[in-house]
Amino acid sequence: RIVYVNGAYVPEEEAMVSVFDRGFLFADGIYEVTAVVDGKICEWDGHIGRLERSLGEIGMSMPMSAEELLEVHREMVKRNNLEEGAIYLQVTRGAADRDFVMPEGLDQTVVLFTQAKKLTGAKSGLRVISVPDIRWGRRDIKTVQLLAASLVKTEAKKKGKDDAWMVEDGFVTEGSSNNTYIVTKEGKIITRNLSNSILPGITRKSVLRIVEELDMEIEERPFTIEEAQNAAEAFMTAATSFVTPVIEVDGVELNGGTPGPVSKRLGEVYIEESRKASC
Ligand code: PMP
Repeated sequence: RIVYVNGAYVPEEEAMVSVFDRGFLFADGIYEVTAVVDGKICEWDGHIGRLERSLGEIGMSMPMSAEELLEVHREMVKRNNLEEGAIYLQVTRGAADRDFVMPEGLDQTVVLFTQAKKLTGAKSGLRVISVPDIRWGRRDIKTVQLLAASLVKTEAKKKGKDDAWMVEDGFVTEGSSNNTYIVTKEGKIITRNLSNSILPGITRKSVLRIVEELDMEIEERPFTIEEAQNAAEAFMTAATSFVTPVIEVDGVELNGGTPGPVSKRLGEVYIEESRKASC
């Protein structure tokens, strides 16, 4: 693979970042993951907008203009012959002698790499467990501090399941790396409202737009695990998972343990639309 490090496109074996990088020592950095389908970048405006916001929330600025970053993304697709998969972008505050006080004026570290993988196609549905949400209080910022998410997803896998839904004060916040939804027996879609408690998903935003275009009913509010277990169906969204059905919550199967019609329909429409809008 060819990776991008601070202005250079190099083979991954040759890429180097300082051991004093604050991303490495303090998780002092922001990332974005963008899907690539048919060699094109999906949801660019959403991801670049969130990157700028996340950086701003921790006192950092954009490493280069949005146009330049798009060029780097496109160059990565080209150099890695990426037809379908993900582009990972990470911007950290830079390298400095270890100190909790953030030094000013560092040269940011900018890294990109690609991951080829099949993203489109039928999805069989995920089985999830619930776990306590032990993350920090600013989950709306997309920082590289992913230890809690990584721990709970690993726990789910060890239990033979696919993902973990995190619960705080009795309500589901989100999945380990995705936004969560249930569909009530009356056909209403429920997903947690935006706040500091969850990441404002780019896929979430598009799916909510599609839901309105399709004249489906939607309510943005927190829901419980019990409510999910009694729902007609459930699903999750993320940039490289699009709309993925959830078929089991803490051992209780939904829709007979198969992907439900609303999840399937939204999944199809989402892929169709994001193919059209990709750049
Ligand atoms: N929540 C969390 C915690 C995530 O890590 C992600 C994926 N980055 C999402 C939600 C979904 O966001 P997006 O649709 O922008 O990928």
